[in-house]
Amino acid sequence: MLSAMVAATARMADFDLSPEQRLVRETVRDFAEREILPHVERCEREERYPLELIAKLPALGLLGPMIPAAYGGSFSDVVTYGVICEELARVDWVVASVVSVANSLAGSSISKHGTDAQKERWLPALAKGECLASACLTEPGGGTDLANMQTTAERVDGGWKLSGTKVFISHAAYAGLFFVVASVDRAKRHKGVTAFLVDPASEGITIGAFPMRTLKRDNLAEVHFDGVVVPDENVLGEPGGGFPVLGAALDMGRYSVAARCVGQAQRCLELATGYAGEREAFGQKIGEFQMIQQKIADMVVRTESARALVYRLGRMKDAGIGRASLEASLAKLVASEAATQNALDSIQVHGGYGVSGEYEVGRLLLEAKALEFGEGTSELHRKLIAEYALGLRKQ
Ligand SMILES: Cc1cc2nc3c(=O)[nH]c(=O)nc-3n(C[C@H](O)[C@H](O)[C@H](O)COP(=O)(O)OP(=O)(O)OC[C@H]3O[C@@H](n4cnc5c(N)ncnc54)[C@H](O)[C@@H]3O)c2cc1C
Repeated sequence: MLSAMVAATARMADFDLSPEQRLVRETVRDFAEREILPHVERCEREERYPLELIAKLPALGLLGPMIPAAYGGSFSDVVTYGVICEELARVDWVVASVVSVANSLAGSSISKHGTDAQKERWLPALAKGECLASACLTEPGGGTDLANMQTTAERVDGGWKLSGTKVFISHAAYAGLFFVVASVDRAKRHKGVTAFLVDPASEGITIGAFPMRTLKRDNLAEVHFDGVVVPDENVLGEPGGGFPVLGAALDMGRYSVAARCVGQAQRCLELATGYAGEREAFGQKIGEFQMIQQKIADMVVRTESARALVYRLGRMKDAGIGRASLEASLAKLVASEAATQNALDSIQVHGGYGVSGEYEVGRLLLEAKALEFGEGTSELHRKLIAEYALGLRKQ
């Protein structure tokens, strides 16, 4: 049943992918199902960061799909990057998140705004997996209103002194690079925000636990910066020029998160069709009941609608469109809500087993919900989309 469903929708999913992109999908799917999926539930139960799974990515070029080949990456095109994020997220949130943070937030920003020295120092290490990245954006006072950032960067001889706290920081305890935003002048709001490339081993950084109800294998952290001195050469872009760096990074971040949501939505759908084709009630397969079929149909519609928006955004980026904030918001909003709703519907199809420890689908619900916050909440994206529609905001 599972393979019948995959076959039925594969033509749509792959319709306008090139032969090379289809091959990437097949290869990554095969790798992810063989090498990652069988270990995810165990890592979650043991609350253990899956370093050994992440270590399998560089051999296939999966840690540097947005990093140029000249710096050791495997960049081919943005759609291919989306397909990779989708297929990895179909089996594991955390492994997909490692790729998306390293490439969308850190790698793409360094490639676009970095000096030659910054590119040489960080990009090869990111692509080879010698250095994982964390994005330190969210603060205890809020993650949506980034212009109201409390973390400050004070001018000192030859550099900047960072002070403040960041929360919800994925991968922090294992990262070799922190992409940090701080304000050089809080009165200037977004015009004071500056991006820094920070060595997590720097004096004055402490990484504390940030307990979560979900994603225990991610070990999210709270990161404190207590007068951390960062040299001038580690400013990414210009002092006070962090918002343009962030803007482009967030377009790509939203793209990769939206692609990950498509992978999760797809997984929930496959789990539902697989179960509905086996489970029986009243002497027939539950997949023959119309109310179950309605859920399956809605899940297919959500997944394919989200995928179409994500691939279109990828194609726009491949066509050289620098900023595509409206399209990024559309893709992120639709895909993240599709992933959550598909998880809910898939759990319902599983009956009580949907929330038992025996089935993977229950875990997917909170993981999907978490993707409605990262890279902009649903409310923020609705606000942005409405402002574009009303002419209150321009690309
Ligand atoms: C699993 C997970 C991993 C994460 N990883 C990272 C990471 O690696 N790095 C990082 O920096 N952050 C990370 N985050 C944090 C995430 O980016 C923030 O949770 C998100 O930006 C929202 O910020 P907040 O939680 O402070 O909510 P707030 O900004 O306080 O918002 C609270 C509520 O108010 C709504 N709201 C706010 N402003 C408006 C408005 N203008 N109009 C309407 N509604 C509004 C929001 O949509 C939300 O519903 C992660 C979060 C999760 C759950």
